[in-house]
Amino acid sequence: MAYKDDVTRVLATCEECGSVYAARQWPDGTVRIIGQEGCSCGANAFEVVDDSTEDSVAGSGAE
Ligand SMILES: [Zn+2]
Repeated sequence: MAYKDDVTRVLATCEECGSVYAARQWPDGTVRIIGQEGCSCGANAFEVVDDSTEDSVAGSGAE
């Protein structure tokens, strides 16, 4: 398959509450979560989770 310089499927965490969402990242760095305008906490700033770095992202309760 050819590599597409296109939208990438990523995981993103809300910068406010830490909730993790499935998101898409555009080549220009824009991150948009899928299915919602923003986080349920009201924020719309997200940080991409690099799934090549297996840190401690497995937690479900981000306090
Ligand atoms: Zn949030």
